[in-house]
Amino acid sequence: MGIKHALMKVLMMRFGVPRVIRMLKKQTALQEVPGILKPTQRSPTRFEIPLEMMKLLQERDDIEIRQMFPVRRLLSVMKNIHKSVDSISENPQMPSATASSEFLSQLREYAQSFGVYPLEFVKLPHDLIFDKFGVLFDNAIILAMEMSKKKIDKAPSQETLNMVFGTYDELGITANNVAHFLREHGYAAQADHPLGGLVLFPPLAQMAGIGWIGKHGLLITPQFGPRVRLAAVYTSIENLPYAAKTDHSWIEEYCRKCGLCIKQCPAHAILEESVIHNTGRVTNIKQQECFEYFGQYYGCSVCIKVCPFSESMYAYERLKAVTENKL
Ligand code: SF4
Ligand code: SF4
Repeated sequence: MGIKHALMKVLMMRFGVPRVIRMLKKQTALQEVPGILKPTQRSPTRFEIPLEMMKLLQERDDIEIRQMFPVRRLLSVMKNIHKSVDSISENPQMPSATASSEFLSQLREYAQSFGVYPLEFVKLPHDLIFDKFGVLFDNAIILAMEMSKKKIDKAPSQETLNMVFGTYDELGITANNVAHFLREHGYAAQADHPLGGLVLFPPLAQMAGIGWIGKHGLLITPQFGPRVRLAAVYTSIENLPYAAKTDHSWIEEYCRKCGLCIKQCPAHAILEESVIHNTGRVTNIKQQECFEYFGQYYGCSVCIKVCPFSESMYAYERLKAVTENKL
């Protein structure tokens, strides 16, 4: 490892770790906010990605920071996670609880102007709030943002890692912007950052009708397959249109026959048979195995690259026809 990278690592340990710990304390302190919605006994435990990254960097001399994250983006991610918690103090004292369809269209357009697509609404089950955390409202707006196919196709690589972190960062900034937009219009809001989220996003987005969870544990969307990152904004708006959801459940049948991600995962981290816990939650990935590979090889992303749904915007309909007609 060069002197420059060794020095950066020392600085990261000295200043980065305390900042991550402060962020975690701030997020767990949310449980003390009056009226906060808390997790249940069935809630999952969060895998602390930034903290695990720091630990791995500390333990392994052969891993350089740039293999795990672009520093500038990580600093911005941390700043925006702090902001998502701090900014709830800006919520109006007496927030509005109803929104017109015109306002919701404006909100959709506003989010789209930052690259959010799709955006859907869903009632948050408290079982999906991570243990030790809390959210202000169970009226959830789910935001998805596409990751570049060109860059995913180069996985694992520095370019892919930079793009993945860039998407996390842009989506986190956008979630804060959407929360601010809601506040400006008299609603209370809380942004939930895509990295270090307070709830388990893939099942929530599946409930919102945005897509279906594939064998690799990622949400497969009709528009971009698994090439998306997810975030949420919780709001005081009680009359969000929780419309009937599109059924994407056929994806499960396609996955049973495909298995490409299982075969091509370099860390053998994707389970052949998913584990269904007695809480009803499903585990598809051996998290520690995935994370160690992810840390060493530029965020990996091979399972996203090889998934046939990543191919193009036409993949979803083509694979649906194959599955339904059993071609
Ligand atoms: S990110 Fe890489 S290591 Fe992790 S599950 Fe996907 S293919 Fe496997
Ligand atoms: S690669 Fe195949 S098995 Fe894995 S999630 Fe995609 S479609 Fe499903």
